[in-house]
Amino acid sequence: MTGKDHGLWEIHAIRYATNAVRTRNLNFIKDTDPGAVLAMDFYCWLLVGEQGAIVVDTGMAPQKAARFGHEILASPPDVMAKLGVEPAAVETVIMTHLHYDHTGHSDHFPAARFLLQAEEMAYVAGPHMERAMFRHAYEADELQKFLGYLHAGRLHLHGRDFQVADGVSVHWVGGHTAGQEVVRVRTSRGWVVLASDALHYEEELIRGVPFAVVFNIADMLAAHDRIRELADSDDHVVVAHDPLVVKRYPSARDDLAGIAVRVDLPPSPSVA
Ligand SMILES: [Zn+2]
Repeated sequence: MTGKDHGLWEIHAIRYATNAVRTRNLNFIKDTDPGAVLAMDFYCWLLVGEQGAIVVDTGMAPQKAARFGHEILASPPDVMAKLGVEPAAVETVIMTHLHYDHTGHSDHFPAARFLLQAEEMAYVAGPHMERAMFRHAYEADELQKFLGYLHAGRLHLHGRDFQVADGVSVHWVGGHTAGQEVVRVRTSRGWVVLASDALHYEEELIRGVPFAVVFNIADMLAAHDRIRELADSDDHVVVAHDPLVVKRYPSARDDLAGIAVRVDLPPSPSVA
């Protein structure tokens, strides 16, 4: 079998930004080594198959990276073009949730229909946003764009489990945000789950601990079980912010080393 068979997908993880000075206390509640550095990388994803291309999240706007202290490494739309997918022609963009580091390049997909959990839209426009703790990773100008897409007929607000294409489905888990979802993708090595921010680091799943940016801790930990139901093994789970991802998976192309890796291919053994 190859990744181009119908219902089988190649998955590119695009590492577009990093924060090399982030410390563990910002990532884990009551960590035993709170001052230790644990770098945070930022990824979005591109699925390519016989049915076309599907984008999963769009990265962060460069001006916002500077404000939050992150270093931009690449522009996701540029990387997608280098991988042979023209952003302007993409017809489907899955939004796993609406935090600013996932919404920043939506303008680059003018032909796309966006897909989002109905519960995420209700959350970002509802009473929980009165609290800074819950709204701090959202950017109002970007949320307004998604309201615009909704009224332009370009945003589908679906229920908890939704079939996107043959071999691609999305599943509500909540936890990190009220409408956080994961993406299940059929690949030549089996069912891979893009956990998005349901898992920031591989050690969350290994240790069974929550991430510090959280709406509902019970849902966040229940998500670990749901992800394991959906993925063929823990090595089929791809997390959203861990520098290990780009180290464990093979580069998509030599000129994109450290930027784009193929997570539909087997990883090297976990070192977490
Ligand atoms: Zn997030």
